[in-house]
Parts: sequence; structure tokens; C-alpha cells
Amino acid sequence: MARNATARRSSGSGPQDHYQAVTDRIVAALEAGTAPWRRPWVAGARTTMPGMPCNAVSGRAYRGVNAVLLSMTGMAHASDDPRWMTYRQAAERGWQVRAGEHGTPVVFFKRLNVHERPEDGEGEGVVRRVPLLRGFTVFHASQVDHIPAYSAPTLDEAPWRKPEAPELIVARSGVRMRTGGNQAFYSPTLDFIGVPVAAAFRSPEDFSATILHELAHASAHESRLNRDLSGRFGSRAYSFEELIAELTSCMVGTVLGLPCDVENHASYLQSWLEVLREDRRAVFRAAAAAQKAADWMLALHPDYARAAASAGDGQDDDVPTPAGSTTEAQGEAP
Ligand SMILES: [Zn+2]
Repeated sequence: MARNATARRSSGSGPQDHYQAVTDRIVAALEAGTAPWRRPWVAGARTTMPGMPCNAVSGRAYRGVNAVLLSMTGMAHASDDPRWMTYRQAAERGWQVRAGEHGTPVVFFKRLNVHERPEDGEGEGVVRRVPLLRGFTVFHASQVDHIPAYSAPTLDEAPWRKPEAPELIVARSGVRMRTGGNQAFYSPTLDFIGVPVAAAFRSPEDFSATILHELAHASAHESRLNRDLSGRFGSRAYSFEELIAELTSCMVGTVLGLPCDVENHASYLQSWLEVLREDRRAVFRAAAAAQKAADWMLALHPDYARAAASAGDGQDDDVPTPAGSTTEAQGEAP
């Protein structure tokens, strides 16, 4: 039961800096020369593209930086099973994390109510909600024995995984899309997407991934999510927005069953490394902004919006809860 001991071990050496630990993992992957959330396209594999990582017990999708962290694991790439769980969640259902399996650390914000007395001692004082970042460990379904086999949703159950979904989302966004030329871009001043004709792309999926990326930029328009698009090419603000759009299109693509395979220019990777090394909260901000943009884009698909509403998803933007009580989430990162 080596795994059990490792998963449950609390940090004996004082509180861990989860911001730094998460940043270090992503930086290490970027330093290896590839964006870790990239998921290459395998021709004909659409039906087996894994969906968004979700909790095996609650069915809720992981969000924000957790969606990024779980999507970039080898296990997420190796199977179409998107289910993850804590050691305790598996045990409570009679499933068993196999001995020797390594868990994947993720994080959640615990909200603490801090009562502040007024300085002059008069009046009621105020209660401030303070977010505290905590870590916990989850295991992929492939690391767990006795868990029921996963059956991926059919296209009837998940109609947003049909090939026409990305264009439907763009059409319903109200953002104009002009086709032609040889560049894909979003014009913030004129608020339109320019994209080469679909036939100019390697595959229809490549075209879909590209229009999702450009729509992610368009989500920043002041009439939508009002994100800063003032950065000039080569600036920090520009590469930060590029990171947000990249993460957004991967999140949306994952839900839609698309690859996350837009080639990143090496200069982007370098600029993201600079942003992340400088600010250990940057990737958290980028992932939260991407989650917001992904929520906006996915809500444009009527079937997805209906399903999400009935599942109660989409709240707690910055609270990637472990989908269970907080006590079961105390396992520290091994
Ligand atoms: Zn872009």
C-alpha cells in the first residue's frame, strides 16, 4: 500500500507553495519544448478523443488550472476515459487504487471567513471571504481496480461533439467571420475573425481548432468578457492573451472532441515561460480567464447549454472544488 501512504502523507515540512508547484510543473513541460496541453490529432479518432477531465463520483468537470493539469498528464492522452478521483472516493465505492500508482496533484480554493473587527472597536465589523489554495491528489480511472468500465457518451447524448459544433458556436456568437487570405486572426478594432478557407487546412479539425482559437480572442471584446487586448505583438500582455486563447481553445476543443493541435510558434513558448517564471500566479489567472471564455463559448451551443444547466455546472469559476467534502481533499502532493 505504498500508494496509500504517499497519497495521504501531509506535508511535514510546513505549508507547500501550491502556486509555485503548479507553475513549476507547467514550466518544466514548456522547457521541454512543447505546450503540455497539446493533444495531437489522430485521424479517424474523433469518437475516442477524451472529454474534459471529470470527477468519477460527481461527474463534474474539473475547471481552470485543474483542467489544464489533468489534461496534460500522459494518462489523459492514453485513453478516452476522463474520470479522476481521490483515494478516498475510490475506497468508499469499493474501488482500489493500485499499489505503486502515483497520484496527480491538483488544487482547490478553500474559502475562509475571516471576521474583521472595526479598528475603532465600534460597530459589527465585516466578514471577509479569503481564498486559500489547498492541494489534493487524484488518480486516473486507469490506476484504479474494480471501477466500472467507462462508456463514452454517444453523439445523441453529447451532440456538441458533432463536427458542425465549432461553426455553430461561431455563428451564434454574433462575431463576423470572413474567409479568405492565408492568415487566421481576430481584429479587435473591427471585431471580426479572418480565417483562410477550410480547404486550406490540413484537416477539418484543424480548421475547427483555428476558428475556436480566434473566437477565444473575440471573447475579450468589451461587449463580451472585456479582457485587455491592448498588448502589442511581442509584449507581455500580448503573449498572456495568446496563452489565454490557447488554453480556451483547448478547453473548448476537449469538450467538443477536437484535438488541441494548433502548432505553437517557439517564440510563444519562450514568452509564456518568461511570464510564468516571473509570476507564480500567472498560469492561474490565465486558466481562470480561459475557463470564463470557454464557458461563454460553450454556452452558445444550445444542446451543451441545456445539459450544463441541468447538471448544475458552470458556477464557482475560481473554486475548482474536489467534488466532495473538503476533508477528503487533504492529501498533499507527493
Ligand atoms: Zn492567437
